Formats: sequence, structure tokens, C-alpha cells
Amino acid sequence: MIVSYLITAIAYQRGAFLLKIKAINGFKDILPEEVVLWQHIEAKARDIFRRFCFQEIRLPILEKTELFARSIGEATDIVEKEMYTFTDKAITMRPEATASLLRGFIEHSLHVKQPVHRLYTLGPMFRHERPQKGRLRQFHQIDAEILGATEPGVDAELMAMGQLLLTELGLAASLEVNSLGCKECRPGFRENLVQYLNERQDGLCDDCKRRTHTNPLRVLDCKKADCKKLVQDAPSILDSLCAKCDVHFSAVQRSLDNLNVEYKLNPFMVRGLDYYTRTTFEFTTNDLGSQSAIAAGGRYDGLIEQLGGPKIPGIGFALGIERLVLLLLDKEDSEKVQQSTIDIYIAALGDEAIHFSSALIQSLRVKGISAAMNFSGRSLKSQMKQAGRLQAKHTLIIGENELANHEAVFRNMNTKQQESISIQGDFETQSSRLIDRLNDTNDYSDLYQSIKI
Ligand SMILES: [Zn+2]
Ligand SMILES: [Zn+2]
Repeated sequence: MIVSYLITAIAYQRGAFLLKIKAINGFKDILPEEVVLWQHIEAKARDIFRRFCFQEIRLPILEKTELFARSIGEATDIVEKEMYTFTDKAITMRPEATASLLRGFIEHSLHVKQPVHRLYTLGPMFRHERPQKGRLRQFHQIDAEILGATEPGVDAELMAMGQLLLTELGLAASLEVNSLGCKECRPGFRENLVQYLNERQDGLCDDCKRRTHTNPLRVLDCKKADCKKLVQDAPSILDSLCAKCDVHFSAVQRSLDNLNVEYKLNPFMVRGLDYYTRTTFEFTTNDLGSQSAIAAGGRYDGLIEQLGGPKIPGIGFALGIERLVLLLLDKEDSEKVQQSTIDIYIAALGDEAIHFSSALIQSLRVKGISAAMNFSGRSLKSQMKQAGRLQAKHTLIIGENELANHEAVFRNMNTKQQESISIQGDFETQSSRLIDRLNDTNDYSDLYQSIKI
């Protein structure tokens, strides 16, 4: 036993058994090829947010655990079992963005500066869910919130913005809308619902039996077939709205009509988080096999107060970036996303040429040109191959002869045309001359290689 331990220890020291370290289960690398799509989605989101006058806010990933317990709710799956919490420090990695955004809004008294704020943020969120297909423990969201406005027109505007973003990304999604009432009318509905569920406990799944007492509204969106069937005849929240909520929700629908936003009422749609009031909505798609939500959100008029802030209403939604990426990858006939290309690749042959080219390339980069070269002195053929892989629009070939004659070979990778170009003078002059040449050849239409999205 001791002997085998010793042998293992020595082997380890010699590096014989070094295991590869892999990413943690549920955490994923996003490789350059896919990042192109991420950047496309993020740029589109920023552009849409600009048009709707949103400003970006960047928030920390770690927050006090209490923030999420107080906002999301103690009796939710997220807070009960899905948060990454450092228990000794009572801090948690954010499982969603709204709570952090509101904490920042309150902490910096943003409401004093202007009455209405339109804020967005994007970044990673963390939930310790069972790692199942497509579920990641670090996932990414785009989050948009309007704080300080209670008018139904604002709800409709936010949904119209979500829809425009999805449309411009080339995705077809349907919008479902519901109202969850307010603290005046929801308790009555909750009571009716609990009574309905209590009379039918035998037909419910184990989770829903428990939820009947902890979070009965969640039973309404249980995915299990038996529960789904059973709630079809459950009391509808839309029949229990108080007069004010009813007026508000009717006005939201009228505003959506006014903006030509198509939607469907879904009285069974509830949110996993306790803080929602009145308008809630979801953008869903059938494109990934089964029906699933791409974006979801709603109004949370009491939450800012609940977190120790002023009495200010709010509404917002979040989009899952991973889901958007999957949907875009799945499409065959959509617009193409431009993959990054480089302006020029310098194929340098021999030590002198490498030395020379590295200075030339620096001068080009200083002037804003994307340029690459290889320091290994490989054969021309292999360097031209690399230029192709990098999607270089041009190459410049410099060997010993070219250095001696002060003339290099300039090749347009699209037309395959070659010509001589002077490499005389200082690097400043040379790089300017090259840039003029690059600007002359502006037809790259066939060269632009796109990746399918
Ligand atoms: Zn109400
Ligand atoms: Zn159930």
C-alpha cells in the first residue's frame, strides 16, 4: 500500500499522470467561431436599446445573499436550491440581474437625477441547477428595465422593443401576455386557487403538492402533463383582477394593438419570481423542438420599496443569450454574420525579411490596419495557406530577393492578381504606400466569407 502510494507520488512528480483539467460541469467555453454570433447579438441589442433611449449599467457578480432572498423570494426554487452562495460570507453569485440592478439604482439614488430610468445590462448569471441538456450553470442574459413609470403604454413599448430585437435578429417568436394582479387582488385569487388545488391533490405531481402551500401560482406553469390538464379548469387570474389592475391590463392590450404588436393572452403564465405584479410576458418559439421561452419579464411595482428604496414602479425583461445563439445556429436561410477578416498578411521568408516585416507590420497596426505575419520562416506555400485561413484580403510576399530589390509582391487574395510594390523608404512611408494600395482595391464582395447563422 505504502509502496504503491510512493510510486504514484514519484510518478506525479515526474508528470507521468498529469490529468487534463476540464471546465466545471455546467460551465462552458465560448470559442472564437461562436463568439462571432455572440458579438452579433450583443451589437444588435445595444443598437435597439440606443433607439429606445436605454443606458447601460454594469453591475458586480457578487451580492449579499439577502438581496436575492428579499427580492426573488425565500420560497422559490432559485433561492431554495439553485444559488451559488459562499455561506461563510453570506454572499451569492447573482442568479439574475434585476435585483442587482435595483440595488444599484437605490444605492446611487438615481431617481433623484431624473424621474424615469431606462437601463440595460448584460453578462453572466449563475444557478446551480441539475445539469441537464442545454441547461448551463453559468448562463448569459441581456436585461432591460424601465424604472419610474407605471403607464400601460410603457409596458407595451418594452414588449415592442423585445419584439423588434428578435425580429431584427431574424427570429420568429410569439408573445404571450398575462396580468398577475397586485397586492390587493392577488391574495384573493391565490386563496381560490389553493382551494381548487387542495380539492385535487391526488392529480398533482409531488412538486405541485408542495407548491400548493409554498407557491401555488407556480402550479399553473408546471410542465407535467397531469398538472397541465388539471389547471386548465382552475380559476383564471384575469377574472380576479381588481378594477385598477383590470383597467391597466386593458390599456396594455390597447397599446400593444396600437403598436401593431401581436400577442396572445395566457392566464396560466406566471413567473418563477415572487416580485412580479400586473403585466407579465414571454416571447416563445417552437424552433428548438418544443415550445420554449426566449425572453421573459414583467412589472414589479413594489420591489424597489421592498428592497429599501423609494416607492417607484418598474418593469423589465431578460433574454437568454445561449438560447438566441442556438436559434441562430439552427437557421438556414437567414442573413449572414460577417466573420472577421484581416486586411493584410505578410509572408516573410528568411530571417532578414522577418525582421523587416515585423517593423512594417507594427507601423501598419499603429495606423489601424489589421495585419498578421508568421515568425517561423515556414515555406511560402504554408504561409499562403495560413493567410487563407485568416481570411486575409491581401498578402505581401517578402523574401531575400525582394529585400535586395526593394520591391515586394502584393497579391489581392480575391482576384488573385499580383503586382510589385516598392518597399523603399522608412516604414512610415512604406506603410502609407501600402494603405493607399489597400484602399484602392475595395471590391472584396466574393472574398467576404460568412458563417451560416
Ligand atoms: Zn389589483
Ligand atoms: Zn406539477
